Amino acid sequence: MRDRGMIEGLTFEAAPEAVTRPLVSLIVPVLNEQDAVIPFVQAIDGMVQSQWPVLEDRPRLEIIFVDDGSTDATAAVLRGLCAGDKRVKLIQLSRNFGKEAALSAGLKASRGDAVVPMDVDLQDPPELLRPMIDRWQSGVQVVNARRCDRSSDTMFKRSSAQLFYKAINSLADHPIAEDVGDFRLFDRAAVDALNQMTEHSRFNKGLFSWIGFRTETLDYVRPQRAVGDTKWKFSKLLALAVDGIVASTTFPLRIWTILGSVISLLAFGYAGFLVIRTVLFGVDTPGYASLMAAVLMLGGLNLLSLGLMGEYIGRIAKQVRGRPLYIVADKVGF
Ligand code: UDP
Ligand code: MG
Repeated sequence: MRDRGMIEGLTFEAAPEAVTRPLVSLIVPVLNEQDAVIPFVQAIDGMVQSQWPVLEDRPRLEIIFVDDGSTDATAAVLRGLCAGDKRVKLIQLSRNFGKEAALSAGLKASRGDAVVPMDVDLQDPPELLRPMIDRWQSGVQVVNARRCDRSSDTMFKRSSAQLFYKAINSLADHPIAEDVGDFRLFDRAAVDALNQMTEHSRFNKGLFSWIGFRTETLDYVRPQRAVGDTKWKFSKLLALAVDGIVASTTFPLRIWTILGSVISLLAFGYAGFLVIRTVLFGVDTPGYASLMAAVLMLGGLNLLSLGLMGEYIGRIAKQVRGRPLYIVADKVGF
């Protein structure tokens, strides 16, 4: 009696999906990614259809793109997507605030029961969403995705990343997870915790590890970028690693760190030279060698410590100014 359309209509109506199916928010910061956006949405779509063949099991999706001040057609492409697909939303920032700030904007705006920051270049494989969401549904609150093979990165990036993790984990009060990027799944409770963080010098990997919660880690192999070029120049990575080296007000302070370390290094070398020369060829002016070595070494160390304090004072100044982390120019689809 019933025709196909009606049966399909009925199955749709009968499943109380809107109430029971969890909402998963994907947060995708984009900077000049006009060619990557559509392949990304298609990949997500395809993955969802194939990995959750049964509609009732399928989580609802919300894809929040954060346009981090793109100067190409990215915003136009995203607006087009928003118009045609209710799951797609856009937050447009007023300029390039950096990936860390863009992610914060997305986390704030997300409504999902679980939230996953993802890169648009498909280097965070969509296939991993299913296992991540499965772990989450069995009670894990934070699911990390660890790059167990970084052969898609250059030799230089791999070794500098390793050095960075070594350095930060020997200095930091709270260790950060190695080789885990921003691609992780957060339960709503963890997202609420992250949204409470008020620091302005944002370093997400540190914050993500700091909040705690029941955490598990999945391994994956990081693929090559699908389209376009990396938006992280070495300079940008370095800035992230030392947390904002280009901020105009902390840079003058920072000069002394650099100058101080160069001078102390030179002083140590020169001191060694003077001592050896004195031992080998005798004293030309009594006390000159030791005096010079002490003056230079202490001068260098003074500048170094001054600079180090400058690092912290610069951050305090930034925090005290209390400017917002980012400025939203426009929101579409919310
Ligand atoms: N990105 C951003 N703002 C920036 C730099 C990067 O929103 O200032 C975005 C970029 O569009 C991409 C993601 O952050 O979606 C990761 O960047 P990328 O793939 O260039 O980094 P990599 O994988 O090389 O570390
Ligand atoms: Mg990438």
